[in-house]
Amino acid sequence: MVPIPPALQRAARVAHKLVPIHELLRPLYSGKGVIFALHRVVPDRGGPRIAANASLEVTPGFLEQVIDSVIEWGYEVISLDQLHQRLLNGTGRRFACFTFDDGYVDTYQNVYPIFRQRGLPFAVYITTAYIDKTMGLWHHMLETLLLEREEIRFSLGGRHQVFRAADANEKETLNARLSAKIIGLSSAEYPRFIEALFERNDVYPEQFFDRTMSWEQVEALARDPLVTIGAHTVNHFNLARLPADKARWEIAESKHLLEDHIGGPVAHFAYPYGGPGSAGAREFRLAASCGFKTMTTMREGNIFATHRNHLSCLPRIEVRGRHQELALLDLRLSGLLSILKNGLNPVVTV
Ligand SMILES: [Zn+2]
Repeated sequence: MVPIPPALQRAARVAHKLVPIHELLRPLYSGKGVIFALHRVVPDRGGPRIAANASLEVTPGFLEQVIDSVIEWGYEVISLDQLHQRLLNGTGRRFACFTFDDGYVDTYQNVYPIFRQRGLPFAVYITTAYIDKTMGLWHHMLETLLLEREEIRFSLGGRHQVFRAADANEKETLNARLSAKIIGLSSAEYPRFIEALFERNDVYPEQFFDRTMSWEQVEALARDPLVTIGAHTVNHFNLARLPADKARWEIAESKHLLEDHIGGPVAHFAYPYGGPGSAGAREFRLAASCGFKTMTTMREGNIFATHRNHLSCLPRIEVRGRHQELALLDLRLSGLLSILKNGLNPVVTV
């Protein structure tokens, strides 16, 4: 979840119109293909929102446009198993894989019909505690809290604080601050902080449990050969903030739980959050030791032949709400934004 600064987005749009620099980059930076990362696919419901949450959503119509456009641009939509095979063999046309993180109910309700209608494959990375309804969607809880309240009272360890959230600016600032705090919590700190922030302000995890799939829905997806079920840990903690044994358990246990439910192998994994602060060399080693074929981060980049040597840290390109523009997507596929974010090496790994 690395946001692209608005100034950079504007510069990119201008560049796209005026200087076809991305067309010069494309031969070097577009690689063999791309893995797209998406979260929610829901109709635009309007009303006040916290920008970070709204940006994790695209509309079903935009998803259809993206799929149809990448096919028009010469990409073949393939599964993660096919991507793995192509990286090992070094064969095949330019490809695009579509992946949907977390296990939202709209993956079942809105995404699945779009791919099924076209006979195209996609993958969903499941956080098993979201399906078990034992872990709350904290960023949904936080959005509700911020939008409902003008000030938020918080007490923890004898310290009392009152956060102001009276206008949109204050709400956005507080969202950024509290989100960074929550992502940085260790698993030991997490339950007390969450309770202090949400339950004492009458926001409860159960209010949001219907936003993620049931096991019946996960199992129904798994029965369709077009759908790949991948793992995304048990609890969606920041793995870098866990001791190695706990981090490995989070990864391995989600794989085993999913395999028990779907009655088949789970061969693909995505790191929660997936940026440098939550998935690095240690996490790559831990995930690789769990026996996955591919593991994906949230670093921005296309897929190259040499990624066959980096299967534990494949970059993706996020399709986000704030970028619901095909021109910007085209720029990202050219590799321009990857250069701006990661430097000149086209093969993004760590
Ligand atoms: Zn996630």
